[in-house]
Formats: sequence, structure tokens, C-alpha cells
Amino acid sequence: MNLYGTSTISENGHLTIGGVDTVQLAKKFGTALYVYDVSMIREKARAFRSAFEREELNYQVAYASKAFSCVAMIQLAEEEGLSLDVVSGGELYTALQAGFPVDRIHFHGNNKSEAEIRMALDAEIGCFVVDNFYELTLLEQLAEEKGVRANVLLRITPGIEAHTHDYILTGQEDSKFGFDLQSGQVEKAIQSANGMNQVHLLGLHCHIGSQIFETTGFVMAIEKIYSYLSKWYESFGFQPEVLNLGGGFGIRYTSDDEPLPVENYINAMIKTVKSQMTAGMRMPEIWIEPGRSLVGEAGITLYTVGSHKQVPELRNYLAVDGGMSDNLRPALYQAKYEATIANRMYEPSDHLYSVAGKCCESGDMLIWDCELQRAIAGDTMAVFSTGAYGYSMANNYNRLPRPAVVFVENGEVSLVVRRESYEDLIRHDMPLKQAIISK
Ligand SMILES: *Cc1c(COP(=O)(O)O)cnc(C)c1O
Repeated sequence: MNLYGTSTISENGHLTIGGVDTVQLAKKFGTALYVYDVSMIREKARAFRSAFEREELNYQVAYASKAFSCVAMIQLAEEEGLSLDVVSGGELYTALQAGFPVDRIHFHGNNKSEAEIRMALDAEIGCFVVDNFYELTLLEQLAEEKGVRANVLLRITPGIEAHTHDYILTGQEDSKFGFDLQSGQVEKAIQSANGMNQVHLLGLHCHIGSQIFETTGFVMAIEKIYSYLSKWYESFGFQPEVLNLGGGFGIRYTSDDEPLPVENYINAMIKTVKSQMTAGMRMPEIWIEPGRSLVGEAGITLYTVGSHKQVPELRNYLAVDGGMSDNLRPALYQAKYEATIANRMYEPSDHLYSVAGKCCESGDMLIWDCELQRAIAGDTMAVFSTGAYGYSMANNYNRLPRPAVVFVENGEVSLVVRRESYEDLIRHDMPLKQAIISK
């Protein structure tokens, strides 16, 4: 078992994180419980930023808040000098309520509603990452109504998809996101945007995938983009002020994952851009959008062990008091995780279990094969690397209230999201007889 971040083992064999005993956290706040190692998030943010600082160029590191959004997290991103990506009115609202500097908010999404665009224009956010022609026209109209000018990046699909260890050259991209490069859509979008009074075209954006463990995909995407950029520079003098290269930097979910240091990605990106620029072109600002790599490894989920079922010679099920309601990724993507019994850290992990959730689905399995200490009901289980897309995908399936979230740092504990109550679950429900609103 490899511990990371600030995790250690206390004298009595308990897992600690941020100087705090996880077994006590479970007792105090109940389970399931999300726990974040704040200093680890800070460390990641600083690693990304210092990789750019060393290169002395203009940059933004935008936290993709869909990975984990709540007011305290947005404020932490602000403290660390990050920018912020939002993909919905709800994420934007959270950012505004957190007091995040609006000029560093970037608005993503392939189907922003009129109301969402108006909300973002009213808030005077930093830029819109425009996904399609419909949005470009709508944005121009709404900005004109308000008499403002909107900064825009065009999201492009460069025809390179990176998945962990392989790259798919798709040519014409079959994706719901972005303007296609190959078919000429990007050039057309640039020309349209340049002709609009209420739109200021800042540059281009691409995001090639997630859980990427090599620099090759980014290098290929940049080369592809510049093969077009140099043509457009020559033919109509276009060059981007900003090149946003997206997120997707890989993290360690299990010991099979070997992520690169973040500076490797940044260095490769900058080097490739520099090598691809043709004479006369200026260096664009480089923006990136890490989500999981900022928060994923910093989060763990604590559960209480409950029932145990042995299927003779087949499987040893150990059930916990959560599951696909607080971590959808195993059911959604067959995502893999590792765990430990947090109150038995000095005991050998010599039992093979399958860790089951408590939801009414056979597919609600958190970990299919997991070597753990011998566990009994009442033990505290910690599942690692659940900080990204855990809380943010949490749901109320089976009417399970969503768990609380705590931050720990230097022995301090902050409750940043309260646990939902049963009353919360029926807050918007109307009794049958009162539900009739017209006859
Ligand atoms: C999801 C997403 C990200 C963040 O991806 P991670 O894998 O969490 O780093 C960044 N940019 C865009 C456009 C995304 O859709």
C-alpha cells in the first residue's frame, strides 16, 4: 500500500490525512464522507503554475470545476491563482457566489442556453469557449442587445483523440464538441467571428481527452493546429492571442497508473508551439484546463463496512454504506480504485474482497478485486483518489442523501459541504393533492 499526499499511519494504526485521524473523521461526520487533503491541491496548482513561470510567458491555468465544484473549492482555486472553467449556469452560479474574479472565468459547453449566456454576459466573465455556429450567432445577438463585446475562444476538434496510452487519428472528428478542423469549419468560424462587432476572437481551444499519460497526443494536436494556423496566417493574417490546450492530465487511481510530472506536459506543449510558429508569428498565451489532476488524488472517500457475503469458492463481497450514489465512475466507466481499512493499517492486506455499494443494482460495485486487511462490520474503509468526479457526479439514487465534504490541512478540519438530510430529499416534492396547478 503506497500512501501519498500528507497521508501517514498513526501509532494506533489509523490512516491519517492532513494530520487528521480518518477514523475520527468518520465518527464525527458520519459516512460516506469525502475528505480532501488541501495541501495536495495547493501543491498541484503550484506545480502547474511554476512550470509556466519558468518559461516566462503569459498563461492561465484554469481549474475545470466540473471535476469538483463547491464554494470552498472555488475559493481555494482563487487563493492559488488559478482561472476557472464552468460548463453550466449552476457551475457559474457557484463561482459567482464564491466571489471568484469574473475576468478569469471561462464558459464551456456544447449547448449553452440563452439564459446561461445572458447570465454570463451580465456577470462580464472573461471568455466564452464557443462550440458551434448556433452559439456564435446567438452570442453575437445577445451581446448586441446588452451592448457589450464578448471574448471568444473557438473550440476545435483537431482530429486527434488521446486515450490514456493510445492516440486515435480521426481525421474528420465524430464528436458532439467543437468545430471540425479538417472539413473547413474552423476557418469558416474564424471568418464569421472576425466579422462580428460584438465578438472579440481571442483564439482557439482544444481538449483531446482525459487520463492522458504521455505528451505525444498534445504534441500531435499542436502540430496539426499549426499546420492550419500557418496557412491562415499567410492567407488572411490570422493568428491567435490565446491557444488553450485543454486538460486531461493523467492521475494515479491505482498502482498501475504512472502519471508524468505536470511540467513534462507543459514543457512539451511550449516547445512544440515554439517549433511550429512560422516567421512573423508571435507566441500566443498558453492556457490549460486541468480538472482531475488538481483534485483527484487529493480526495478519499470514507465508508463504514457493513454486510459481508461469501459465495463459496467464487467471491467474497464486502458492502459499504455508499456506492454508485457517491462514486459513479466504476459503474459508468469501469473505473478502478484501491482501498484500505483505515483502522487496521498495521495489519496485512491478505484478504481478497469485492467491495459492493448499497444501491439496488448488481452493477453497483466499487472495486471488483481488492486486497484488504481482514475487515468486519463497523470498520472504516478508505477508497483513494476519489477527489475528481466523485462528489460532482453524486446523486440521490435510492434516495440516499449525498455525503458531506471535509477539507483537512495541517491538522485543521473544515466542513465545506454539509451532509444532505432526509428533509433535503423531499424539499421540492409536492403532496399529490397540492400538486395540481391547473384544471
Ligand atoms: C473535462 C474537461 C477538462 C478537464 O478534464 P480532466 O480530465 O478532469 O483534466 C478540461 N477541458 C474540457 C473542455 C473538458 O471537457
